[in-house]
Formats: sequence, structure tokens, C-alpha cells
Amino acid sequence: MQNQSVKEEIKMGLTDTTSSKEKETTQKPTYSSSQLLSLPQELFMDICENLHPKDLYTLSLVCKQFRIILWSNSTNTQQIWCNSRSKFLKSNIKLPNSLTEQKFIWLGFLGHNCQYCGQDLEDNNRRRFWEFKVLVCSKCADEKSICDINFRNDLNYLMNATSPGYYGTNPYYWKSDVSRVVDEYNSLSEDEREGWIKNKQAELRDDIQVIEALRTQETEINLNKFLCNILSR
Ligand SMILES: [Zn+2]
Repeated sequence: MQNQSVKEEIKMGLTDTTSSKEKETTQKPTYSSSQLLSLPQELFMDICENLHPKDLYTLSLVCKQFRIILWSNSTNTQQIWCNSRSKFLKSNIKLPNSLTEQKFIWLGFLGHNCQYCGQDLEDNNRRRFWEFKVLVCSKCADEKSICDINFRNDLNYLMNATSPGYYGTNPYYWKSDVSRVVDEYNSLSEDEREGWIKNKQAELRDDIQVIEALRTQETEINLNKFLCNILSR
């Protein structure tokens, strides 16, 4: 899927893989979506690029075919979301390689519920960690993150292999990220480990720059909101 063109994706989308039961329940949206899917590739892309990210997300929920296209990691699909966010959200930041456009939009603009427990996220209970790529409530943040002092001695290699967050004063890590890098590291031979850590460090260096920029942007937005609230009193 990574390098497929949108045209190929549309072809994939047109391949009807829905069961007859699914067809019955999705009859109405399939009718309208099939008209859109029959458009030439360029025209379909033009339409998508002129939709707000929120509408792109809604479109992806209409039917399986749109979901396949709009949740793809392919270059063309990433470009559709990137153009849409630039146009409607005035956000032109370059994303780290590990973060897709869809995930960025979800974390930054569209997500309103904790991705683990589903709870509605009020302003005082919302924790957005760009470094972990999660949007969660305070309770899930506490449960699913771990302070580095808990494994600093045993797992020093992790310091260079996964993104830390600063949740409070000490560096924190996301437990599932830690498990993943431990598994990866353990699956390597002794000879491979040094190179693996160097690669991880290089990936993280790029990511951290973008994450810092996102944090700064977020702090400025929150400060502006705070000042607007004070001034409107
Ligand atoms: Zn939660």
C-alpha cells in the first residue's frame, strides 16, 4: 500500500469485497460513493484537497472504499491531507517520518476522546503527547507511561531508542513503546545491536526537532487562548 498511486487505490476501492449483508446495510452511502469513485483520479484528488480535514475524515467513514483510500500511507494520500491541513488549518509544519498526516490531524485537531478508555476529554483532562503519538485522559496517561528512573539501570539502551516525554520533571516513556523496543533489541544479535541503536538515534533526532516545534506552537496557541479569555472578561 505504501507506494500505490491513488489511481491504484481507487481501483482497489472499486473491487467489491463487501458481503451481501454489508451491502444491504450500506446501500445508501455506496450509491453516492460509487459516483465519486468513478471520477478520474486527478478530479477525485482535487475534490479531496478542497475538503476540510474534518470532512475528509467524515468521507473516510462513508464506506470501505473511501476508508482504504483516505487512511492509506501512500504518498498521494498523505499529500491530500497535507494540502487540506495547509489550506484550512494554516498548519504547514513538516511532520516527522513516524507520524502520518491522518494521525497528526487526529491528535491535533479532531480527537475529542481518550484513545484508550474513550472518555470525553475536557481541557483540564486532556493529555496530548506528540512524542508518544497519543491523545489520552490523565488516568490513562498515568497508567500507560513509566518514569525512566524505574528502568534507568537495567535498560540504558532504551534512552537512545525511543522518544522520551517530559511529563512532570523526569523523562517519561510510553510503556508500549518500551515493550516494542525491548522486543526489537532482544531479537537482534550482539553484532547488530550497536548499529540498531545508531539508527534509532538518527530517527529520533529528526523526530525530536519536529516535536519541539509542535510543543512551541501549542504553547503559543494556549497562551493566546488564555489571553483572549482574560481580555474578554
Ligand atoms: Zn483514558
